[in-house]
Amino acid sequence: MSELPYSYDAPVSQALFDRAAAVTPGGVNSPVRAFRAVGGTPRFMVSGHGPYLTDADGRDYVDLVCSWGPMILGHSHPEVIAAVQDAVSRGTSFGTPGEGEVALAEEMVARIEPLEQVRLVSSGTEATMSAIRLARGFTRRTKVIKFAGCYHGHVDSLLAAAGSGVATFALPDTPGVTGAQAGDTIVLPYNDLEAVQEAFHRHPGEIACVITEASPGNMGVVPPGPGFNQGLKDACRENGALYISDEVMTGFRTSKAGWYGIDGVRPDLMTFGKVMGGGFPAAAFGGREDVMAHLAPVGPVYQAGTLSGNPVATAAGLAQLRLLDDAAYDTVNAVSAQIQALVTEALTKEGVAHRLQTASNMFSVFFTDRAVRDYEDARKQESFRFTAFFHAMLANGVYLPPSSFESWFVSTAHDERAVQRIADALPAAARAAAEAQA
Ligand code: PLP
Repeated sequence: MSELPYSYDAPVSQALFDRAAAVTPGGVNSPVRAFRAVGGTPRFMVSGHGPYLTDADGRDYVDLVCSWGPMILGHSHPEVIAAVQDAVSRGTSFGTPGEGEVALAEEMVARIEPLEQVRLVSSGTEATMSAIRLARGFTRRTKVIKFAGCYHGHVDSLLAAAGSGVATFALPDTPGVTGAQAGDTIVLPYNDLEAVQEAFHRHPGEIACVITEASPGNMGVVPPGPGFNQGLKDACRENGALYISDEVMTGFRTSKAGWYGIDGVRPDLMTFGKVMGGGFPAAAFGGREDVMAHLAPVGPVYQAGTLSGNPVATAAGLAQLRLLDDAAYDTVNAVSAQIQALVTEALTKEGVAHRLQTASNMFSVFFTDRAVRDYEDARKQESFRFTAFFHAMLANGVYLPPSSFESWFVSTAHDERAVQRIADALPAAARAAAEAQA
């Protein structure tokens, strides 16, 4: 990208990025952070408080990424920080069982009825990888159905036609994934139950599980159509496969019981991450007790982790979950609705074709005039308009996800002042989107 719609300096971030690029591929530890889809210098953040992030050049931003979902109470929430400090003061890792992990598992199980047992891990990728292995071990089958545009972390077999960074960079099947791994993955269009039925018909007795984002947020926000998740569940039951609902993004964000709390479709297995870690590396998979009983040390399916159930991470996650009562969700939902309305108003005023799609308090904007039901639709949007919009918002102190294939996230800390900053930034950003050229 040669010319940006707005020019502004970020010399300290640029210097850090140059240093980073010398020692880390692309200068980042997760590809979407590099701003490649939108161009410009990624901001190196030094601190976060409430709804704000401050970068290394001393500029602050209203944060609409919230660490890609986890920071639902805003940054540096005093009670979460206090819980972390308390945990750290007693040591950082023991490699033994500890009460914190029991308490976190109890909190999760209490909130989500089909979650009879959970196993803690350290990332969403580990959670989905382990859930797939368990589903294969339980059913003694090999094939997995996933949907184009759904991202389940960088698990080899799940990278085919994935969302998030894979969608942002329009990557073909990733080198390094073997034909055998990819060959056991059946990729289907999202929201297409007929395709699911047909796949089960074509592969009788071979499909171990269907994995789906409970409500996808990694191709932008594309919620399941009416009856889609129930249809998946039914197809799985009829064909002896497991239904895995990936709630890494939606879990404890879209409601107290995640997306399950909204659609009530009972998965066999579920995966979690993000919010449940309170900003630390904690994630989980769980579900039916009879399925979970196949995991080591009770059963034969091996799964383990040096830092699984880490005392600092579990303390942060537990503190965050305990603060997430009904009132907290009311607050996040209300502020999300307010921001959604402002975005729609600004873009409509400038005559910019767009669709704002929501899944509870998660939302994203597609620069297209058609409803987006699957990855094909998502890819047809005019992403060049997002680039202009993104940079205009950034220049005016609002930090959006640097890709049009990502959900935006808000927190309980997004107060009136933060919303006003967004409202002030939007008119110029909408104009930039309107004027953008492909
Ligand atoms: N599943 C979903 C739905 C996700 O959104 C993500 C990450 O964005 C993952 C899995 C992978 O989680 P992690 O990045 O913690 O490995």
